[in-house]
Amino acid sequence: MNDIPGYKRRSSVPVSVGHVTVGGDAPIVVQSMTNTDTVDEVRTAIQVAELAKAGSELVRITVNNEEAARAVPNIRQRLDDMGVDVPLIGDFHFNGHRLLRAVPECGKALAKLRINPGNVGKGSRRDPQFAEVIEIARDLDKPIRIGVNWGSLDQDLLAQLMDENGRREAPKSPEAVMRDAVVISSLESAERAEALGLGHDRIIISCKTSKVQDLISVYQDLAARCDYPLHLGLTEAGMGSKGIVASTAGLAVLLQQGIGDTIRISLTPEPGGDRTQEVIVAQEILQTMGLRNFTPLVAACPGCGRTTSTFFQELADEIQAHVRERMPQWREQYPGVESMNLAVMGCVVNGPGESRMADIGISLPGTGEKPVAPVYEDGEKTVTLKGERIAEDFKEIVERYVERRYGQSA
Ligand code: SF4
Repeated sequence: MNDIPGYKRRSSVPVSVGHVTVGGDAPIVVQSMTNTDTVDEVRTAIQVAELAKAGSELVRITVNNEEAARAVPNIRQRLDDMGVDVPLIGDFHFNGHRLLRAVPECGKALAKLRINPGNVGKGSRRDPQFAEVIEIARDLDKPIRIGVNWGSLDQDLLAQLMDENGRREAPKSPEAVMRDAVVISSLESAERAEALGLGHDRIIISCKTSKVQDLISVYQDLAARCDYPLHLGLTEAGMGSKGIVASTAGLAVLLQQGIGDTIRISLTPEPGGDRTQEVIVAQEILQTMGLRNFTPLVAACPGCGRTTSTFFQELADEIQAHVRERMPQWREQYPGVESMNLAVMGCVVNGPGESRMADIGISLPGTGEKPVAPVYEDGEKTVTLKGERIAEDFKEIVERYVERRYGQSA
């Protein structure tokens, strides 16, 4: 984006993942991962569809045993039957080589394979098993994500780097050696993959850590040392606000430096919680930073002693939910609507000013203020709402505004 002061996206080689491009000039891609048992084809396909509907442009599924591998082509078929064309990524660990050989349709149905060099196999089995997965990907012309994870780092490599560090005159801290190790593990694995015939433009790299400062340092190092597209994400980010804040803190610093071609927010859902939250958070990080637009955002004031009722919070919530619900249809009908700004403000102090600056805004009455709610469209007051139907009336005004401003004839 050109209008962000000082922003320059790091250059990387574009990689095609099905019909989605990661890296190069492509927009930063939002991805997510299911938490269903892949063997349960119906539930997995439904969750993939829900994640895709929420805006996930790539979805990863676990492929941990032969039953799961056999389910993958069926899940792909179910999604195609539902009209959901989101590319699927298979997440493989110790037995990936065996599953991909045993169930060739599995690899064919996937748009990308993810392997972790730290747990592709132990000891002398590691290199041949890694090579087998790479050769399968090469032969199927599928891209690979080399996904190193701090918690499952290649222990042989780490031990070697620790030994070398111990012999230095001024040894680095163990954490610094760990950071070096994740970067080296990913780059050496990518080099081995290329030596085995996988194209340079078929590799994406991630090096996930669970601490924000480690994440920033590791990705800055990676960005300086390669031109592979980078997949960003804080691993084990956690639940609720902690997970969201930690992910945002780490990713925002890197994204602002132009680092990152695809992102995933690894939130732990509340029991029974909605998996799509990780997609919404990823979109909101990119949108609030001005890097992409997905859904009109509703600005709302925080409220204070001037608003003794909860009406304005409820209205802000209702309008944001309405906008999200309408987006699938609006996106088709009204190109550009995703960049619309709405404001719901709680009183006359800042309300009219903020509402005027939004594309469409409403300023509700604060405590003791006249019970009227002026509405502003493109900076001009167009109507004043009052009475019991303020929420419904405002939604209708938003609908008319969208049609007028973003309709094809507009
Ligand atoms: S706009 Fe009014 S209600 Fe909202 S925070 Fe400011 S003073 Fe308080």
